[in-house]
Amino acid sequence: MNNTLLGKDLVSVDNLTQSDLKLIFAKTIEMQELAQTKGGDRRLAGKIMAALFFEPSTRTFSSFITAMQRLGGGIIPLNGMTNTSIEKGESFEHTVRVFSVYADCLIIRHPLKGLPLQACQYSKVPVVNAGDGTGEHPTQAIFDTFTIFQRFPTQKELVISLVGDLKNGRTVHSLAKLLAKTGILIHFNFISPKILEMPEDIVRSVSLYNQHISVTDNLAKKIAESDVIYMTRVQKERFKNLIEYNLIKNYYQLSKKMLAKSKKDVLIMHPLPIAAGEISADLDNDPRSIYLTDQLQNGLYVRMALLDLILRK
Ligand code: ASP
Repeated sequence: MNNTLLGKDLVSVDNLTQSDLKLIFAKTIEMQELAQTKGGDRRLAGKIMAALFFEPSTRTFSSFITAMQRLGGGIIPLNGMTNTSIEKGESFEHTVRVFSVYADCLIIRHPLKGLPLQACQYSKVPVVNAGDGTGEHPTQAIFDTFTIFQRFPTQKELVISLVGDLKNGRTVHSLAKLLAKTGILIHFNFISPKILEMPEDIVRSVSLYNQHISVTDNLAKKIAESDVIYMTRVQKERFKNLIEYNLIKNYYQLSKKMLAKSKKDVLIMHPLPIAAGEISADLDNDPRSIYLTDQLQNGLYVRMALLDLILRK
């Protein structure tokens, strides 16, 4: 397969084609095998990845670091961007220009939507968006999609319920847009309280692919038909008014009891962290829950695959 990702930025799922996805998924399977048999290899020796995280992160940051290290590459790990010249007032442009001299790719997380895209103008090396404010989280969407397809390899139609803070949650923005263009028929349930509904532009992008969309705030009503229930956290950091956040943070609390009528092989997913009990702890070890198993694990394999594809001929 021709490596269409070589030297490319990855800031949104918008530019990804079905054949890019095929390429990434094939590479992901290779990485899965590599990691499980040998832990990794040295194919990215001599390459450096700078992880510039201007906003808190646990999994995304550490899985990128792990992915690079499992492939023998070097890292500049800046989580929090504190103790850097940002504190002295250095501009975003200068920061990006500096690290693009040191590193072979930049992994950027930023609280402001659109900053990774802006970074592409300043950077001489590929930029990967690791989450930009309420914008997108493309690498998460790629491994979420990989995970869903791995579990339902032959299904031509799926009912996917995205639940929670669809307004501010960047993972569901990228996931809805990416799933919409995979070539299979998706019945989306966008389930949220009224004030946290999926933004218009995402709904429009999904509709372009003639996918079905149902908008509701009633999770209970949609459980039985769902193949995937993708829960999300109410994004506290996007609220100006914390009273409002506190009123809505517990709007959905998925528990074992609520799943009494679910399909046997329904997937319970969450991008993590679970912050306000949106999935109750009694589901953590349930076989239907994959947020602490497959979904999490695939994040590492997909990021290994992406680094290999972007950085190596
Ligand atoms: N970890 C995911 C993100 O960075 C989900 C979340 O924080 O709710 O967007």
